[in-house]
Amino acid sequence: MTRVTYDLVVIGAGPGGYVCAIRAAQLGLSVACIEKRPTLGGTCLNVGCIPSKALLESSELFHRAQHEFAKHGIDASPTISIGAMMSRKDKIVSQLTRGIEGLFKKNGVTSYQGLGRFAGPGQVEVVGEDGSVTETLSAAAVVIATGSEVSTLPGIEIDGERVVGSTEALSLEEPPEHMIVIGAGVIGLEMGSVWSRLGSKVTVLEYQDRVFPGADGEISKQAKRSFSKQGIKFRLGVAVQGAEASSDGVMVAYQKGDSTECIEGDVVLMAVGRRPHTAGLGLDKIGLETNERGFIPVDARFRTSVSGVYAIGDVVPGMMLAHRAEEEGVAIAEILAGGPGHVNHDLIPAVIYTHPEVASVGKTEEQLKDAGRAYKVGKFPFMANGRAKAMESTDGFVKLLADAETDQLLGAHIIGPSAGELIGELAIAMEYGASSEDVARTCHSHPTLSEVIKEAALAVDGRALHI
Ligand code: FAD
Ligand code: NAD
Repeated sequence: MTRVTYDLVVIGAGPGGYVCAIRAAQLGLSVACIEKRPTLGGTCLNVGCIPSKALLESSELFHRAQHEFAKHGIDASPTISIGAMMSRKDKIVSQLTRGIEGLFKKNGVTSYQGLGRFAGPGQVEVVGEDGSVTETLSAAAVVIATGSEVSTLPGIEIDGERVVGSTEALSLEEPPEHMIVIGAGVIGLEMGSVWSRLGSKVTVLEYQDRVFPGADGEISKQAKRSFSKQGIKFRLGVAVQGAEASSDGVMVAYQKGDSTECIEGDVVLMAVGRRPHTAGLGLDKIGLETNERGFIPVDARFRTSVSGVYAIGDVVPGMMLAHRAEEEGVAIAEILAGGPGHVNHDLIPAVIYTHPEVASVGKTEEQLKDAGRAYKVGKFPFMANGRAKAMESTDGFVKLLADAETDQLLGAHIIGPSAGELIGELAIAMEYGASSEDVARTCHSHPTLSEVIKEAALAVDGRALHI
């Protein structure tokens, strides 16, 4: 066993940890990163963002070939090989995770495979699969970037066959006849869309009275309309109580008002959220306590309550998004190298990669109302946009919220084609404090989807041109 000293030890090589390690090394710090998975990249690259987007892409192409090509005059009778689709996804994951290994080498980050565990202040052990300590690392600073894991409901166990989490839902061998999704949040509707497009009947059970409960209300309504048209069924305002698996299928019981109802399916996807991952970290060895929900509290400079120990990404309260973790990774690396380092948590865009896509940045209309802020609304539909019509993709709209007095943009919400790409323009505008007038007066190329943003900005003051 060796004992090695670094300026920085990062625990966890997800988008928070690996980006932090690379940036710190670029800034001249000696850096080690410990990851317990055999591959780097964390949830995002291995079992999250990337494999889910690979399957969303394949299944959407299949769906379009079945249902939309005829409108273009293309005669196609597509079939799909689930095996080939999964191999393509696995290949993309493996290329990207190996890419991080390359980036570590290029930047001089030392990578350790094993569980990272605190042995005391500034001391982190690397524990191998057999439980033995293979290295003890000393560091002036330790960044905890251990991410999150699937959570479930009391009394429902994820068995990986009848009751699955997102990880298993990314690798099913065939479309279940009836998939019951618990939770109409991001994972529920991304993975529900994948299997619905591939032929499963999909029923989504949701506790709240709407899909994407955190989204702007009008976006939620439009999303539900679009998914319902695609054949996804919803039971909203229901509290799931239990799931009983048998060799024939799985029975889910839920409470609706005063009555208890049941629904039977072949596979249940648990998509009720994720919980912070701190198991095995040895936080007790340094006296670091988590909050009541298991997250590690930090201040604006990512400091935990223990000197020299920082935390970023999903393990810290806030939006569980890869790009948020990355931004925090860069910021803490820069702070540790003596620089400033700041993340504007008010302007982190969020994207849901369903069809239509959903994207937002800033406040929802409901949040502005709750805060008593006076605001103006500008909305414009993709239906009135030439490019969207040419693409046969006219479901949805752009909605902008601006301060009633100053006209500063406060929130931007898009449901429609390429929403995830379009939101970038609005995130930059809002980061620079733009008004709706600034966006309205900026020349947007024609014919592009981005003209819907310009028209929505014009609509804030009632002067949209093409409606
Ligand atoms: P993680 O990516 O979870 O990485 C933490 C790493 O730490 C893991 O590899 C874990 O093995 C390791 N680890 C944990 N404990 C230890 C230890 N003691 N020692 C060593 N290693 C340890 N976000 C988006 O922004 N866009 C998306 O499209 C998107 N899609 C998603 C799809 C799915 C199905 C899921 C599940 C998530 C998705 N997310 C998406 C969320 C995104 O994956 C997370 O927000 C992001 O990965 C968080 O990054 P992180 O670095 O904080 O943690
Ligand atoms: P989520 O928080 O988005 O959705 C969970 C849903 O389950 C909520 O709508 C909630 O009301 C519902 N729910 C909770 N208890 C319930 C019950 N008893 N019965 C019925 N419904 C219940 O969580 P998720 O979809 O599991 O995703 C986890 C995290 O992963 C999210 O924070 C998300 O940001 C991240 N993620 C992001 C992306 C993306 O950025 N595109 C994709 C996937 C996951």
